Amino acid sequence: MDEKLNVLLMIQSIDTKFDNISREKEETPKEIEKLKEGLDLLDSTVEQNLSTVEELKKERRKVERELEEIDLKLKKSKLRLNEVKSNREYQAVLKEIEDLKDFTFQKEETVIKWMEEIEIQEKKCADNTVRREESQEEYKSNEKAFSQRIRELDKEVQSLNEKRVQLSPNLDEDLLRQYNGLRSHLKGRVVVPVIDGVCQECHLGIPPQQYNELIKGDSLQSCPHCSRIIYWEDDSGI
Ligand SMILES: [Zn+2]
Repeated sequence: MDEKLNVLLMIQSIDTKFDNISREKEETPKEIEKLKEGLDLLDSTVEQNLSTVEELKKERRKVERELEEIDLKLKKSKLRLNEVKSNREYQAVLKEIEDLKDFTFQKEETVIKWMEEIEIQEKKCADNTVRREESQEEYKSNEKAFSQRIRELDKEVQSLNEKRVQLSPNLDEDLLRQYNGLRSHLKGRVVVPVIDGVCQECHLGIPPQQYNELIKGDSLQSCPHCSRIIYWEDDSGI
């Protein structure tokens, strides 16, 4: 019985490793996917930042052109000041010049406002570009590490498969079928020790008579509660 049990436990240990490998293969791409999502988000943020800066510069240029036009008008008005005939007309041109100067002042304020806003947006854009580069580096290195890990895992799977194939003939078919059947619908271990009369997976007690049989070790038994294959483990020395 010991021999059968040992083989079964070895097979279980191999299958547990298979499970861990599958889990790792499933979970890592999710992490990488998350990094990719973050990177895409930064991509569109940087794009948005750039277009905001572009829009602001357009606005600034528009106001600058308006300023040039006002300046032209101002020069013309100043020239007209020398040509006017009446005092009334002179006052009117003076008023026009004052208004144009006010207008220039307002437009200049606007240009300053746009320039400050452009500076803020350019800073945001630069910061996000740096973050984007860092994020891309992280994504690339994770992806590279993952491909490398996959290759290692594939090798491990291959060698585990070989070991399992070597072990299977040492186990009788009925037991292997029982083991595979349990594995297909139970989570975790399906061959478990019973310590002090308690199944170590479902934590329920084994009836005394069955427990005595288990201690004798003549046959492999099933837990009456969770159906897992059980064996006796002596912990008296612990
Ligand atoms: Zn149990």
